[in-house]
Order: sequence, then structure tokens, then C-alpha cells
Amino acid sequence: MDNIYNYKIEDLEDYFLSIGEKKFKAKQIYDWLYVKRVRSFYDMTNIKKELQDKLSSQFSMEFIKIKTIQKSDLTNKYLFQLLDGNYIEAVLMRHDYGISVCVSSQVGCNMGCKFCESGRLKKVRNLETYEMVQEILLIESDIKERIDSVVIMGIGEPFDNYNNVMNFIRIINSPYGINIGARHITVSTCGLIPKIKDFMLENIQVNLAISLHAPNDFIRNSIMPVNKAYSLVELIEVLKEYISKTNRRVTIEYVMLNNVNDSIDNAMELAKLLRGMNVYVNLIPYNETSNLEFKKSSKDTVMKFYDALKKQGINVTIRKEFGGNIDAACGQLRAKEVIK
Ligand code: SAH
Repeated sequence: MDNIYNYKIEDLEDYFLSIGEKKFKAKQIYDWLYVKRVRSFYDMTNIKKELQDKLSSQFSMEFIKIKTIQKSDLTNKYLFQLLDGNYIEAVLMRHDYGISVCVSSQVGCNMGCKFCESGRLKKVRNLETYEMVQEILLIESDIKERIDSVVIMGIGEPFDNYNNVMNFIRIINSPYGINIGARHITVSTCGLIPKIKDFMLENIQVNLAISLHAPNDFIRNSIMPVNKAYSLVELIEVLKEYISKTNRRVTIEYVMLNNVNDSIDNAMELAKLLRGMNVYVNLIPYNETSNLEFKKSSKDTVMKFYDALKKQGINVTIRKEFGGNIDAACGQLRAKEVIK
């Protein structure tokens, strides 16, 4: 049976029309699912009994489960168990500007970035839309607060699960449902060019972040296998096209890896690459994991890199570190659960 949380409001409207019901039923259902948040069609008191029966026989309302929560000051780390037994994770972070949640988009990941824990465990499958939607619903019900922003930067490559991720975005963005503003949603990709082109045409104000992590093909090839399929030059070209078409600023993520991509020369090369583009660079302190040989750049190196970019007129920020003490980084919790 198909899960009801897979459905965009337009899909439910089509469904109701197809069974001879009024279109506005879709809005009523959305209100029950996402505003009042009931867990059974029989709690939807403005839906008549026959329709409740029909919906119950056609749609599942089953939920994934929270398996563990690790809480520290500003961070909660959730390990979820899916209905087929697989594990995924999500992280909540409290900022001055509100609560953000980082969600997973796949069970595992096939991109194979050398420094990334998620990549050690190959992709098992894509997440269904409802699984991503329920990550949000379950976290909100745990904290009894509203989430302000969502980043699709957990386990997985969202553009390798493009349709389900876009459905997820449309569902959480719906004003009749969870209502998270498009500008408060960010999708992060390692650079799957054909999907960036599709995303360009979506006509939605969702933010795009690119995991660049290197100023040239030589370094990028050595840490990100995806670069062999879609090179840096092609990626920059398509980003320029994206920026001019959408008029939106793109975030460039750059994880600072000791002696790999963190020299002043690297900063100068990066500045040259990005000059004139409407981007801002987010320098990410590397979260070391015991399984991989990469080390984080020293604070001093990060500051010098930052200063060099600034001097070149590049917008740049340094990402605040969250959750190092609770394995909040990138696939570590799932890796522990699966490999232990
Ligand atoms: N596949 C997508 C989204 C998931 S990864 C992407 O590549 O963008 C989210 C971000 O975390 C990426 O920028 C990724 O390169 C980075 N990342 C992975 N492992 C990390 C680690 N140990 N420390 C810091 N950042 C890491």
C-alpha cells in the first residue's frame, strides 16, 4: 500500500477527483496530516466514514521509528529505523536564527568521496518521499517546536534520488502543510550536472549548495570520484548558467582537509575560479572520523585561507562546528549501528 506521506497536495487533488470526490478534500487531509497531525484516517472527523474506510484501504499511514536520540547543548542526533530495518540519521541544530534540521536522502551513498563516512557504506536504496517527510514530522514531535529550516545534507546524494527529493521539498514547502519556506530549504549536491540542469527549471526558490572542496581537477579527482564524470570546469559552467537563469546565489561548500586543499595557493586558485560569480563560500571544518586518514586543517590554516579569499573579494564564512562529541558528522551514527 502506498504511504499517504508520499503525496503532494496536487497528487491528492487528482486522486480525489478520480474517485468522484471534491478537490478540496486534499486540503482537509493535508490539514489533518500536517497541521493537526493525527495518525489515523479515523481521527479525521470531517471525513465521512465511507471515505475513511476507502482511504484506510488504499493508503498506509505507517511511520518510520526513532531508534535513538543523542542530545547535547545545541544539537540532537536522530537515528531512525525504516520499516524494512535500514537505518538513516538526521541532525537538529539550534542557531541564533532558529532550528535547522539536516536530513538524509538515501540509505548509504554511491558517490564515494574519500573523506566521507557515508561513502564507506555503499548505497542500499533511495529514500522514499514519505521517509524524508517523516524525518521532519518525528523530530518536530520530539522537540514540540517548529523547525525553521531544512538542509538536505545528511546521508546520500539528493540528486541521485531527484524525484523523491523534489516531492519531499514540495510537500514540506506546501502552505497547507508543514509550510517551510523555499528560501529556508537547501539542497546540497556533489555536482551531478544533468540534475543541476533539471533543478534550474523547477521554478522554486530553494537554495542550492555545491560540495566543491577543491580549486582544480587534480585535487578534486583525488578526493571526489564524481569529478571524473563531471569535471570542475563543466560544473562551474553550469553554475554560471544556473545563477544567470535563476538569479539566485549559490553556496560553495569547501571542507578544509589538512595538506590536501588548504594552502594559500589553493585559496588563490579558488578565488580565481569563482571570481565574478554570485556565490558565497562556506569553509567547513572537517569532522575527523577514526576510520579515514584525513585530518582537519588547523584553526590558523582555516583563518589564513579565509583571509586570502576575503582579500580577493570572495564572500566567505566559516561553518560553526556542531555535534562533534555526539558523532553528528555525516554518517557516523549509522556507520556505527551498521558496522558494530
Ligand atoms: N551528497 C551531498 C549531500 C550530503 S554530504 C553532497 O555531497 O553535497 C553533506 C556535506 O558534508 C558535503 O559537503 C560533504 O562533502 C560534507 N562532508 C562529508 N563528510 C564530512 C566530514 N567528515 N566532515 C565535514 N564535512 C563532511
